[in-house]
Amino acid sequence: MKFGINCGHTKSGPGSGAVGRIVESDETRNVGYKLMDKFRANGHTVVDCTINSASSQNAYLSQAVNLANRQDLDYFISIHFNAGGGRGVETYTYEGRQFADALETCANIAALGFKNRGVKAGTGLYVIRKTKAKSMLIEVCFVDTDDANYYLTVGADAIAQAIYNAVVDVNNGTASEGNTAVDNVNNGVANASKDIIKAGQQHSINFTGNSIAVDGIWGSKTKANAIRCVQNAMNLDYGSGLAVDGIWGSKSNKALGNHYVKRGETQYMITAVEILLMLRGYNPSGVECPGIFGSGLESAVKQYQSDAGLKVDGIAGKNTIKSLMNV
Ligand SMILES: [Zn+2]
Repeated sequence: MKFGINCGHTKSGPGSGAVGRIVESDETRNVGYKLMDKFRANGHTVVDCTINSASSQNAYLSQAVNLANRQDLDYFISIHFNAGGGRGVETYTYEGRQFADALETCANIAALGFKNRGVKAGTGLYVIRKTKAKSMLIEVCFVDTDDANYYLTVGADAIAQAIYNAVVDVNNGTASEGNTAVDNVNNGVANASKDIIKAGQQHSINFTGNSIAVDGIWGSKTKANAIRCVQNAMNLDYGSGLAVDGIWGSKSNKALGNHYVKRGETQYMITAVEILLMLRGYNPSGVECPGIFGSGLESAVKQYQSDAGLKVDGIAGKNTIKSLMNV
């Protein structure tokens, strides 16, 4: 793929960024250039759309966009840091479209310990509105709160890796090839769904705190982490007080009861269902904590239900959840 990466803001003078405990225009470069290296090292083409000086803020913006639009980019990514006293990561897309990679960028950076502020409408942002390619602007965290101190301990490389993983995970064809049949999951999987399983394994580690191999294979340890995800979610949502031990026994089964999650809801059980789908090779279009049940998740649930021979209603109830855990 051909990526245009913009390290946000000029270095100094007109168009330079926010200054707090850290300097935005320094850190956009620290993250952005590491991200460029990662794309290049994996065979992608990168166009550096960074502008170091400009006569005004508007000139900086139009120079960056002109640079991007002169190329036939697949994706334009602009790196920024927020200011104004908040906490956490957020991304901006055209009309706030909940692109899987924008959601996953938030989730991956949040998994490093930042608050997840989600994907927002960036239509008013010049670089989002004016670039021809698909675009995403990332506000990594805040320069003027404890976020900045925490960022310095996490480091720019981990942020760049989190962004890289999200973008590559989603754009390696998972959107079109992600809905692999259950049989394929069990009988040796295509590379695309192997990548989804790997991402799901990492999410299961983040959500449960229990480490397993991130190898893209649905095995007994991955199955145990799938069960841990549901146990952890039931403790958080229903106060079930279960041991998060990865064993599906009568207490876990009773706690699940007739619970279900469906479109429009926000619950940790939705986080668990999203991770379960990924562990079985299906793309739920992002993992949030707590999870938000949107259209991407609904279609993944329906696809799974269809492949697994369950009632296809897009509602994740006990039969679907137990089938996903293979219990
Ligand atoms: Zn900025």
